[in-house]
Amino acid sequence: MSGRGLIFFYGPPLVGKSTLGKAFACHIGLPFWDVDEMVTVRANSSVEDIFTECGEPEFRKWEYKVICDLCTEERGVVALGGGALIQPWTRDLVEKNGEVVLLTAPQQTLLERMDQGADTRPLLGREPEQGLMRLLETRDAHYASFPRKVWVEGKTEEELIGEVEVSLGRFRIGGMRREYEVVIRPDCLDEMGQAMRDRDLNGPVVVITDDQVGRLYAERVMIAVRDGGYPCSLCVFPAGERSKTMETVRDVWRHFLSAEVERGSTVVALGGGVAGDLAGFAAAAFHRGIQWINIPTSLLAMVDASLGGKTGVNLPQGKNLVGAFHPPRQVWVDPDVLCTLPMEELESGMAEVIKHGVISDPVLFSLAGEGREGVEGRWEELITRAIGVKAKIVRLDPYEQDQRRILNFGHTIGHGVEHASNYRLKHGEAVAIGMVAETYLSERLGLAPPGLTKKLEDVLSLWNLPLTIPSHLPEEDIMKAMRRDKKVAGGKLRFSLPFDLGDVKPGIKVEEKDWREALRFRKESTDG
Ligand code: NAD
Repeated sequence: MSGRGLIFFYGPPLVGKSTLGKAFACHIGLPFWDVDEMVTVRANSSVEDIFTECGEPEFRKWEYKVICDLCTEERGVVALGGGALIQPWTRDLVEKNGEVVLLTAPQQTLLERMDQGADTRPLLGREPEQGLMRLLETRDAHYASFPRKVWVEGKTEEELIGEVEVSLGRFRIGGMRREYEVVIRPDCLDEMGQAMRDRDLNGPVVVITDDQVGRLYAERVMIAVRDGGYPCSLCVFPAGERSKTMETVRDVWRHFLSAEVERGSTVVALGGGVAGDLAGFAAAAFHRGIQWINIPTSLLAMVDASLGGKTGVNLPQGKNLVGAFHPPRQVWVDPDVLCTLPMEELESGMAEVIKHGVISDPVLFSLAGEGREGVEGRWEELITRAIGVKAKIVRLDPYEQDQRRILNFGHTIGHGVEHASNYRLKHGEAVAIGMVAETYLSERLGLAPPGLTKKLEDVLSLWNLPLTIPSHLPEEDIMKAMRRDKKVAGGKLRFSLPFDLGDVKPGIKVEEKDWREALRFRKESTDG
């Protein structure tokens, strides 16, 4: 992580680099610097005066000096002037020391901002409108050459902060007792030890993983942790849901005791949702809560289970009956580990990705709609967007009181089907079936536009996900499981239903005759 800690906001004049830069710095809790302001202070003269009295080259000298000094800082957010990176050596310096986020907006918006007297810009001359148009034209290719772009038009500050996070592959999730950071980056596993050092985490470190993931990645993580100077031991459990029990937690606690884990020590969960839930819960209760880091390795764990701070284990009487909200200190996502994930696990995880697309990201939905070949080489983008959706929702509703219920889209019928199948269907398969039935229900109630179910079915089938309730599952079993669901209110079931792509609303009360119809519609199409 070192050497990449600065975030530079760049883009044309009037696009809002300083305003958004400051807000983003506040959001992620880092210092903020505005290069133009620093030049003004150092030169004891306004930017405008430097330009008119000494010319642009003199201003660029001041600007370069300020940027050189800022590049000695470890972490922080910097708003650059609109032409700061035209000189190749300045761009080189900045890109070596951090990441550039280019803000962009239509020319018309910038002109309007100018009309509103938002600012005076010395480079724009006496006829600022023409000056701005000329400047945008000459810098067009330059701005286009920055890979991380955020389109600012028509978005709230909060939405823009979310988009900047997506572009950086880095999120900060607050709202709970403690904030935590989510980082998505290929090879980040190898940087674990250094990153732990940077964040003052303590040892001894225990890596908890299942035997399947452990065989593939445990050694790599342990080497990285030891390279950070930490004593590190490994605790392995058999892969699969059946290990998510209190018995395994007890084994983990025994390991903690023999490894002399203390209150300040760090636990690392390495694996799918089972490893995260189990290790997080073991950490939550040991010494009344020790810190942990989550390294999710399945697609489902990356985009769903690792976010939101929920940990827990199953009891013989049911899934996830014992648990705690205990957010990790960090979540590290290396998209490259998906290359070893079995195909059916990847496809099952895609159901949650597609769900996030339907909930609030039509771009993610269409990326998923390109199928496996289309997504090849773009997994990082897909995972980051999917995480962005859940991060946004979890932030609004950290303890699952209200807004977070929109994540239940597909899960009311999905859970019923999953339960009735005696968990033979994978979670993602059940959610895919649930999403189709619930979207049909929404269409039937006149809430979703006609054709939305078909659109969803087309995307899900590209990932080999089932669309229909298996005909051997008794309808009564599904209904019984659904009625037991905690979303029952006054005899009606509450659903989170799509009103359109990117627009799901929670708490829609639905009469039994209507949702029963949705179950039957799917059955009929299976049989017919
Ligand atoms: P899992 O952890 O059992 O992983 C599935 C399988 O994939 C396992 O066999 C695992 O060894 C293997 N695997 C994982 N990553 C791999 C990789 N990179 N290469 C090769 N093999 C790999 O199950 P899951 O589907 O990841 O997660 C399901 C669990 O998550 C359930 O217990 C569910 O309750 C929980 N969950 C929790 C939350 C939450 O908010 N805490 C949310 C959703 C689901």
